[in-house]
Amino acid sequence: MVSNEINEITISKAIAEKYFEKLKASLESEVVIVGGGPSGLVAAYYLSSKGYEATLLEKKLSLGGGIWGGGMMFNKVVVQSDALEVLDEFEVSYEKYDEKHFVADAIELAGALIYKASKKARLFNLINVEDVMVRDGKITGLVVNYTPVEMSNLHIDPITIAAKAVVDATGHDAFVCNMLSKKTGELELKGEKYMHAEMGEKGVVEYTSEVYPGLFVAGMTVAAVYGLPRMGPIFGGMLLSGRKVAELIESKLRI
Ligand SMILES: Cc1cc2nc3c(=O)[nH]c(=O)nc-3n(C[C@H](O)[C@H](O)[C@H](O)COP(=O)(O)OP(=O)(O)OC[C@H]3O[C@@H](n4cnc5c(N)ncnc54)[C@H](O)[C@@H]3O)c2cc1C
Repeated sequence: MVSNEINEITISKAIAEKYFEKLKASLESEVVIVGGGPSGLVAAYYLSSKGYEATLLEKKLSLGGGIWGGGMMFNKVVVQSDALEVLDEFEVSYEKYDEKHFVADAIELAGALIYKASKKARLFNLINVEDVMVRDGKITGLVVNYTPVEMSNLHIDPITIAAKAVVDATGHDAFVCNMLSKKTGELELKGEKYMHAEMGEKGVVEYTSEVYPGLFVAGMTVAAVYGLPRMGPIFGGMLLSGRKVAELIESKLRI
């Protein structure tokens, strides 16, 4: 016997309607975060918790960025004691290794950041940011397209998303900063330096900042812009940088 309760067209309508509702609401966002790695997810979570409309754009199918593989595909990550309060906020469990170093499961960490951020912010996968919008010396939004358009080299125009603040959380690529530098010549990227975990972790949080009017950096992008050392598979700096960028944007937008 065939049931009439489940209908294919209703399923399609529900997906299309709800997706485009979310997309339309995001076209004029207060904050757009580019990149769904640890720093971007943490920033999206804290900004939305503070009441800001935060939209996060990730070009890949899965969010989580560089978390999943831990170090060299060993799926454990190290977090230093300073960042445990962020793990607690996201209800991620961890084990003490020594006084300063704690170990979390990479899959649990990725899952928890995605889950909690998705409860509050608008998260999109498969959207590639390909350019910036600039007006009067300020970044005012982003130019975006579906990732498969870029992958297939299709001749299809992008659309635009306006934002009062943009966060470049694209990791090593520092994509938004590189694009802004290329298009305006007004931002210089120093490039990430050699491995020095202690200096890299401190620097990435300390230098999390607004690098151009309306454009903030978080995570490994901070190292790429300011020429800071890399730090390997320790994630406290990424988490704290995401939280700090949310605080900086809050104090800027509140004015
Ligand atoms: C070669 C290599 C070296 C590494 N070295 C280090 C290291 O020294 N120290 C360290 O801590 N970690 C390192 N990592 C791991 C990892 O990058 C970081 O630990 C951590 O995941 C960085 O967090 P993040 O939030 O800054 O960015 P990521 O986790 O890298 O996330 C950035 C996200 O942005 C997305 N993205 C990029 N461009 C766009 C775009 N145009 N539009 C939309 N989305 C975009 C990416 O798909 C990605 O999901 C390395 C990774 C690689 C591949």
